[in-house]
Amino acid sequence: MPPRLASLSQRSLILTLVVLLASGFVLTSLLSYYASRSSIRDNIVNTELPLTSDTVYSEIQKDLVRPVLISSMMSRDTFMRDWVLAGERDPQQMTRYLQEVMTHYGAYTAFFVSNASLTYYQAKGVLKKVQPHEPRDAWYFRVRDMATPYEINVDVDMANHDALTIFINYKVFDYQDRFIGAAGVGLQVNAVVKLIEDYEQRYQRRVYFVDRQGQVVLTGTHGGPQGARSGQALGAVPGLEQLLAQMPLPSSGNHEYLADGARHFLNVRFIPELDWYLFVDKREDNALGDIRQSLYLNLMICLLVTALVLALLKRVIGRYQQRLELLATCDTLTGLPNRRGFDLLATQAISEAMRDTQPLAALLLDLDHFKQLNDSHGHLAGDEVLKGFAQVLRASLRHSDILCRWGGEEFIVLLRATPGADALQIAEKIRRHTEEYAFPYGDKSLKITTSVGVTGLQLDDTLHTLLNCADHALYRAKQSGRNCVRSELPQSCHE
Ligand code: GH3
Ligand code: MG
Ligand code: MG
Repeated sequence: MPPRLASLSQRSLILTLVVLLASGFVLTSLLSYYASRSSIRDNIVNTELPLTSDTVYSEIQKDLVRPVLISSMMSRDTFMRDWVLAGERDPQQMTRYLQEVMTHYGAYTAFFVSNASLTYYQAKGVLKKVQPHEPRDAWYFRVRDMATPYEINVDVDMANHDALTIFINYKVFDYQDRFIGAAGVGLQVNAVVKLIEDYEQRYQRRVYFVDRQGQVVLTGTHGGPQGARSGQALGAVPGLEQLLAQMPLPSSGNHEYLADGARHFLNVRFIPELDWYLFVDKREDNALGDIRQSLYLNLMICLLVTALVLALLKRVIGRYQQRLELLATCDTLTGLPNRRGFDLLATQAISEAMRDTQPLAALLLDLDHFKQLNDSHGHLAGDEVLKGFAQVLRASLRHSDILCRWGGEEFIVLLRATPGADALQIAEKIRRHTEEYAFPYGDKSLKITTSVGVTGLQLDDTLHTLLNCADHALYRAKQSGRNCVRSELPQSCHE
C-alpha cells in the first residue's frame, strides 16, 4: 500500500477507535448521571422535603406553637378572669402573674389588656392605656372585633425598645363568654429567624412562612423565594410565575417549578396552629452538585483514558508500521536493503548526484559458481556465504555508499561522489577481499570468488540504464573467466 494511503487508513482506524471509545465512555457516564439524578429527585420529593417539613414542624411546635398554648392557657386562666371581674384592684397581682408566665415559660414578653379599663399590663408593670385612635394600639381593637379566638401578629414591642416581636393575641372571656380583654405572650422574631436560618443551613434549603393570602410572613435573614421579604406577596415576587401558575394561593402538597434558571422542589404544609403555610424549597442544582462533579470527573477520566489509548495505539501502530516497512525493504538473510529498498535509495542518490553534478558509480557483483557451492556444501552453507559476503561488502565500503542484495547471489553497490577510476579500485578491493576471505561454515571454511561489473552515471542516465550498463560489464567479467572486474563505458552499453 502506498505510504499516503497507509497513513490515511491508520488515521481513520485510530479515529474510529477513539470515537467508539469516547462515545462509549461518555454514554455510560451520562447514563449513570441521569439515573442518579432521577433517584436524587425522587428522594428529594418523596423523602427529603417531607421529612424536613416534619422536622421543622415539630421544632415549630416546640418553639412557636408553645407560646400559642401558653396564651390559650392565659385566656382560660381563672385568676385572670376573677381579677378582672373583681375590678382590677391590685395591678401588682397581675404584674406578678405576667412575670411568672414570662419567666416560667421562657417567653420574651407577657401581657394583658383589659377591655374595661383599656389598661395594658405587662410583666414590668402597667405600660399604658390603649387608645382607639392610636395606630400602635390598632391591634387591640382588631383582636377585640375578630371572630377567631386568637391571632398571630408580627409587630414591634413598645415595652422592649420596639423590638420586632411575634405576638400571640388571645381573646379573654368571662364565665358568661363576654369579652373582657386580650392576653398573650410575645416571642422575639430574631429567635425565630435564627431558628429558620438554622434549618436553612442544616438542610441546604429555604424555609419560610406564607399566610393564607399568599403573603410572606416570616423568613430567615436571606429572605424567602428570590430574597422576598416579610410582607411581600408571593404574586409580586418576580421569577415565580411558573409556581404561581400551579398554585395561585398556598396549598399543601409538592410542587416543581423553574425559577432563576434552576429547577426547584417545593413542599408546602399547612400549620393550623399558626394559620400559616410552611414552605420548604430546595434548588435542584444544590442537590446535584456532587453528582455533577463526579460526572465532570468521569468525563475527564474518559478524556484522559481516551488520550492515553490514542497515544499507545499510535505508538504501537507506528512501531508495527516501521517494522513492516523495514521487512518490506530489507533482505532478512543479509540485513541489506532488498530491491524495493534499493529503488528508493538509488533514485534519491541519482537525483542528488545529478543536482550536485557529482560522479556516481555502480557496481554489480555476482558470486561465481555459487550453484556449485550450494550443490557441494548444501543450501545452508550457501546462506552463510551470502551473509559473509554481505559483511565483506560492508567492510570494504563507506557508510554513505548504498548496498543492496539484488536477488540470489547478486549484489549492487552505488558509490556516491566516486569517479570511475576510484570505483574500479574499490571493485578490485572487494574482489580481492572475497577471494582471500575464508567463509566459516561449521568447522569448515569455504572459498568463493566474485565477478564485478562497474559503470559510472552519465547525464542522460536513469536507474534502469545505469543498471543495464553495470550488467553489461558484469557479463563481460563472467565472459572473461570470472573473479575479475570489468567496466563498461556508457556509450557502448547504451547502444
Ligand atoms: P555463475 O558463476 O555463472 O554466476 O554461476 P552460478 O552458479 O553462480 O549462477 P546461477 O545463476 O546458475 O546460480 C545461482 C545459484 O544461486 C542458484 C540458486 O539456487 C542459488 N541461490 C539463489 N538464492 C540463494 C539463497 O538465498 N541461498 C542459497 N543458498 N542459494 C541461493
Ligand atoms: Mg547469478
Ligand atoms: Mg553466480
